[in-house]
Amino acid sequence: EPIILRRQLEELNSSLENKVEEGIKQIKLILDAQDNIVIVTNGSKISHVNKKFLEFFDVESIDEFFQKSSCIDSYFKKEDNFFSQDKIKPNQTWVQSLRELPDIKRVVKIQDKQEEDKVFAVTIHEYDEPENNGVYYVISLTDITQIKQKSNLLEYQANHDQLTGLYNRQKFDSILTKEIRRSRRYGHCMSLILFDIDYFKDVNDTYGHDIGDKVLIEFSELIKPEIRQTDTLVRWGGEEFILILPETALNTAYDVAQKLRILIQEHKFEAILHKITASFGVVQLQKEDTEHSSIIRVDHALYEAKKRGRNIVVSQE
Ligand code: GH3
Ligand code: MG
Ligand code: MG
Repeated sequence: EPIILRRQLEELNSSLENKVEEGIKQIKLILDAQDNIVIVTNGSKISHVNKKFLEFFDVESIDEFFQKSSCIDSYFKKEDNFFSQDKIKPNQTWVQSLRELPDIKRVVKIQDKQEEDKVFAVTIHEYDEPENNGVYYVISLTDITQIKQKSNLLEYQANHDQLTGLYNRQKFDSILTKEIRRSRRYGHCMSLILFDIDYFKDVNDTYGHDIGDKVLIEFSELIKPEIRQTDTLVRWGGEEFILILPETALNTAYDVAQKLRILIQEHKFEAILHKITASFGVVQLQKEDTEHSSIIRVDHALYEAKKRGRNIVVSQE
């Protein structure tokens, strides 16, 4: 009788084992069917990874992965706006620290085997397992490299002028508001320079619009290197440009404008035989100035410069 009982037990056991094996097989299938990199941890120890994981890290198994490196988070590149090891809080695992971040910060950058940077959004599902006194996580890394590139491009396009690559008016608005606030808070002065190419219509009429475009590009390339890091150069409109100069008083801004005026006047443009000059309006922001009033005033100064014969700088308190 004990023999029969044992045999029954053995049969039960092996059928259970088969069931478990079957279950594991199905879980593997599900994991491998994922387009994301999936990692399952048991506590802080990795118990499963899917095919995508092995392919991405170019290994045959988890064991081989750990022969090459001690942890996954060592692959996260340290870069602004990306989660990496330096952002792990003391006494926490990377998973715990990352989980505390808002959704949009749960993003990592990892180099693939072709040494290309890939951007992944990380989602983590936590499962409590009270009977084992443990927690396990299913971590999923979704490749958002292309979405990220696209959104970077869209953001770039929204803030830059297509022809010259300078900031556009939309960006100008946000920077001006920020700088005005900052100068108020710290009691610093700030100035604006608005400048406009003289008789630019003649350039278009003489050489055509395409050459006119080339001159505008060369014009902005000429100005760009002259601008301090803290200043902002913007294509204001057609052949008009504006400069925001934080922490700059009127006399200094005036000198900057004069320097630019002479630079332009002396420059030999590649595409045309004409000499190019520009007229400048300069203002320092006053206590009562708003974004709107400061632009009205600098526009007025520029208008004065045009009226007085062009290729000059007119400044207004
Ligand atoms: P002023 O000295 O009074 O500024 O004379 P102006 O001819 O420069 O001024 P106006 O405002 O009458 O003409 C500006 C010209 O700039 C007209 C327009 O065709 C040209 N323009 C504006 N944007 C562009 C551009 O993107 N490319 C080209 N090629 N020309 C442009
Ligand atoms: Mg003009
Ligand atoms: Mg103009």
